[in-house]
Amino acid sequence: MPTKRTILLNPGPVTLTDRVRQAMICDDWCHREPEFAGLTRRINTELVRIYPGMERDYSAVMLTCSGTGAVEAMLASFAPDAGRTLVLANGVYGERMAAILGAHRKPFYLSQGEWTAPLDVAAVARLLDEQPGITHVATVHHETTTGRLNDLAAIGALCKARGLPLLLDGVSSFGAEAIDAGAWNLAAVAATANKCLHGAPGVSFVIARNALFTEAKTDAGSVYLDLHAYYSGQHGEGYSPFTPAVPAAFALHEALAELHEEGGWVDRQRIYRQRAARIEQELTSLNIYMLLNKNDYSCVLHSYLLPDGCTYRQAHDVLRQAGFVIYAGQGPFATRIFRVANMGAINEQDLDALAGAFADLFGPLA
Ligand SMILES: *Cc1c(COP(=O)(O)O)cnc(C)c1O
Repeated sequence: MPTKRTILLNPGPVTLTDRVRQAMICDDWCHREPEFAGLTRRINTELVRIYPGMERDYSAVMLTCSGTGAVEAMLASFAPDAGRTLVLANGVYGERMAAILGAHRKPFYLSQGEWTAPLDVAAVARLLDEQPGITHVATVHHETTTGRLNDLAAIGALCKARGLPLLLDGVSSFGAEAIDAGAWNLAAVAATANKCLHGAPGVSFVIARNALFTEAKTDAGSVYLDLHAYYSGQHGEGYSPFTPAVPAAFALHEALAELHEEGGWVDRQRIYRQRAARIEQELTSLNIYMLLNKNDYSCVLHSYLLPDGCTYRQAHDVLRQAGFVIYAGQGPFATRIFRVANMGAINEQDLDALAGAFADLFGPLA
């Protein structure tokens, strides 16, 4: 067991503030009593208030699962059986959306791009011309595989112009990157408590257009992941259909209060950008460079090329010893990159200590 405070620089879960951690030492609440219904309602209300303009047309439902569970619930409940979903992928998480649609036997078309390339919007437009059967678009906002922030303004405009509902994986962007639901023709977005919102792992959520929850439903092909049941429960009497992770719900409630008090998503983005810039400055001074172009990144996570003479395991272990958890690359990048996220409770002293640890690790190689 590590004794000193560990700073998580992996893309979720994040280092909690003491306030959020304390919130989990909560009373023993039954989820079918009015007080838990009240907590659920407040969480769902706060979630749709993070982005201005969402509150009127969208509702949130809280789920007990990780981010993938929320993405799966969204696709199971809202991707059509009679229709076809175009999946735009340039990383692990876009490809996972296609895998989920396949597992639920929903018709889809996967546009599979290079992991290091942006989504090709012109090619998507041509594809839509050639494939008239496409009724929905699914993609990832921040592709955590590389740290790329996909160009949702362009993709969303295309969805809007063609009247295609957008199903978005916002798991690693919700709460820190801009989301323009109206301009993007957003049907639904799935996200989690334990990334940019700084809650604990265990609960996640889907925000969708009210009409999707209430109008004729598609076959979710799942009992547990059918969002219509969550909506009618949580937005009716306030009860979840199944036992929720009560302590994680308390933590999310507190984390949302903190986010609000600290200036909402705009200020969170500003802080993330400052941290990312500081980390980049330290690494660049040690001749460690980014995988993508600087402007392609989200404010949440950056990927860096491992220098010659240093394996991921060595980098991880030296930093872990110094109290920091970084993250490996996936697939072909497992041996080539390391990833540094900057979510959660990280202060200036932590960043100073991280700079020192980077210097110890990479200085001798530079
Ligand atoms: C973290 C993440 C997920 C979900 O991962 P879980 O381990 O299921 O929480 C999904 N999509 C993206 C883009 C992510 O970064």
